[in-house]
Amino acid sequence: MQYISTRGGDERVTFEEAVFRGLAQNGGLFIPERIPSLPEGWEKSWATLSYVELCHRVLSLFIPPTAEEGGIASADLYEIIDRSYSTFRDPQVAPLTHVTEREWCLELWHGPTFAFKDIALQLLGNLFEYFLKRRNEGRAENDKETITVVGATSGDTGSAAIAGLRSKEHIQIFILHPYRRVSAVQNAQMTTVLDENVHNLAVDGTFDDCQDIVKALFGDKTFNDKYKLGAVNSINWARILSQIVYYFYAFFTLKEKEPALDMRTVQYVVPTGNFGDILAGYYAKRLGVPMEILIAATNSNDILQRFWATGRYEKRATHQSSSSQFVSETLSPAMDILVSSNFERLLWYLAHDTDMESSDEAHRAQKAGAQVASSMSKLKTKGAFSVSPEEHKLARHDFVSFRASDEETKETIRKYYAIKRDEGKYLVDPHTAVGFNAANKAAVHEHTTQIILSTAHPAKFRESVLAAVADPRDLPLAENLFDQYVIPPELRGMLELPRRFTRVCVADAPQNAGPTQFDKLLARTKQIIEEQSF
Ligand SMILES: *Cc1c(COP(=O)(O)O)cnc(C)c1O
Repeated sequence: MQYISTRGGDERVTFEEAVFRGLAQNGGLFIPERIPSLPEGWEKSWATLSYVELCHRVLSLFIPPTAEEGGIASADLYEIIDRSYSTFRDPQVAPLTHVTEREWCLELWHGPTFAFKDIALQLLGNLFEYFLKRRNEGRAENDKETITVVGATSGDTGSAAIAGLRSKEHIQIFILHPYRRVSAVQNAQMTTVLDENVHNLAVDGTFDDCQDIVKALFGDKTFNDKYKLGAVNSINWARILSQIVYYFYAFFTLKEKEPALDMRTVQYVVPTGNFGDILAGYYAKRLGVPMEILIAATNSNDILQRFWATGRYEKRATHQSSSSQFVSETLSPAMDILVSSNFERLLWYLAHDTDMESSDEAHRAQKAGAQVASSMSKLKTKGAFSVSPEEHKLARHDFVSFRASDEETKETIRKYYAIKRDEGKYLVDPHTAVGFNAANKAAVHEHTTQIILSTAHPAKFRESVLAAVADPRDLPLAENLFDQYVIPPELRGMLELPRRFTRVCVADAPQNAGPTQFDKLLARTKQIIEEQSF
């Protein structure tokens, strides 16, 4: 199995290269050259596997078993997976909770940082480490290959990336966050990690400044070559791959609990930002996991919802956002995006599968790549592009999309908190609430069975959750109860731990930095990486 670019061309890379490189040379994203087939009888033979075993089976479809092919020996892969998920508090990794008669919640936040990104980043950290170790075997100490991972975060990704890469050999990680603009819990989750290879940079600016600095670093070829920058953002193929697994796991869990249910009627609802989580669901569907449809739940940053309604993908200001910056801030910040980076992968399949003319696969793949390249170029220059009616129809065959406002998000948190269950009240975080809201809008009748993916623990979004469920007159009491019963002990203790981070401010910039504030912040960031990297 090799990987090709969504924008065509001759480049073919191994799994190992796809993991390290992130982006293809022509700016495209890596996709597998074909969708593999599941083994005959998988529905029976995989039914009782543990999460780790199931993960091993699914990943083995996409990762060849030898180093020569840029893959991983089967026993090594098993060990990597086992170690990656041993950090989870729940042995099921992704347990399925029964919330109402017809609604099930797939809880993806039982990892170290209480957010779904742990599922991908715990594995990615171990994959990086494994490949580097293999490349460095027999090399002298001063000749060892290293990477410097650099990323920007508004909160969640940074903590999950740090948890995935802390103390890994031959890897340094630099995470930029906007100074004093991440929540107390998020700040603690990043800056209380004191491993030597972890570097938190608190930038005097916004999240966008952080992201622009990271982009400038990756665009600086000299700097990039010297420090071997690595990316952990959601376009990394290994992240998508690891997320396919829990759709299989959810399928088997529900099938066991509801043996009489026709699994082909089940809807999967996914709170969506960069389209990584739901794209993994699309791969699961293509591989053969029975389901009716995937539902992309968005907040008011609704480019995806508009695409499914109209067939046009268009960057657009929403009513709340300022003119210079299109993204509007919502109660579900991890989904506040202007465009969804992984959507490009779906576009390739839409173009590829509606091509009725090409006679052979190689030709069809190239044509799809050329079309995606053209669409992405239109998006860049004109801010929009449209797909053909056939592509739009095909997209609507596998997906629908619904949008939730902040008001609806709060109402939804309240609604599910009020439902009486045997296990007690069910409190969801604002991202998961966007999902439940879409689920309500998508349910065709009172028997529609839905699996809603829950992407964060409610404790991570204390203020929004309290604003939704607490009576303002009793707020101090509600805060006390929340801190006592909702905040997990792991997070509670964290706020008191010692912290380490480096401020990135204009005053400390080197003399030769450029004139603007951005130049100065960028130059200072480079200086810090130079001082603290290998
Ligand atoms: C990242 C994230 C999402 C969005 O996932 P995508 O793969 O980017 O669509 C949703 N909820 C939470 C809590 C997240 O951290």
